[in-house]
Amino acid sequence: MAKALSVSWCYAPHMLPDWVFDEADRDFMAAALAEAVAAGERNEVPVGAVLVRSGEIISRAGNRRRELGDPTGHAEVLAIREAARVFGDFRLDGCTLYVTLEPCPMCITTCRQARLDLVIWGADDPKAGACGSVIDLAEDRRLGPPLAQRGGLEAAAGRKLLEQFFATRRRNSPDYSC
Ligand code: ZN
Repeated sequence: MAKALSVSWCYAPHMLPDWVFDEADRDFMAAALAEAVAAGERNEVPVGAVLVRSGEIISRAGNRRRELGDPTGHAEVLAIREAARVFGDFRLDGCTLYVTLEPCPMCITTCRQARLDLVIWGADDPKAGACGSVIDLAEDRRLGPPLAQRGGLEAAAGRKLLEQFFATRRRNSPDYSC
């Protein structure tokens, strides 16, 4: 009970409590968080993702939007592109994407286009989240077969990386935004 109370502040209603996820989920999210840390060290917004099939990481990526000068350079898109290259197929059935932040509309649509089985995300994004925070584009049946998604895994860790990143940048440049 005490644990639930202490972490409840970081869960939006459309997120699951962290304890519902298993050890394998936790390991894959740890790998995604490592990608997020590396992205922050490159002066990119610290979001990371890994794509998993049959218990193995197929691809991993951090945000590279600034480095690539590419508005589509989000971690999720880069991880999906790499996995599609590995498999030589745009269909990534049987794959699960782990990402440290709730995907934006572009990314969750990319996940649907890739036919992923499941997306597991960490912190919610009240400004751009497309898994329920602002809009739900994952499970909306008007867009075709729904994509299963679960949020809230290591949410506090994912959020802390973002808060630390923006706190540092805004101290130096008040206008800094992602
Ligand atoms: Zn995105």
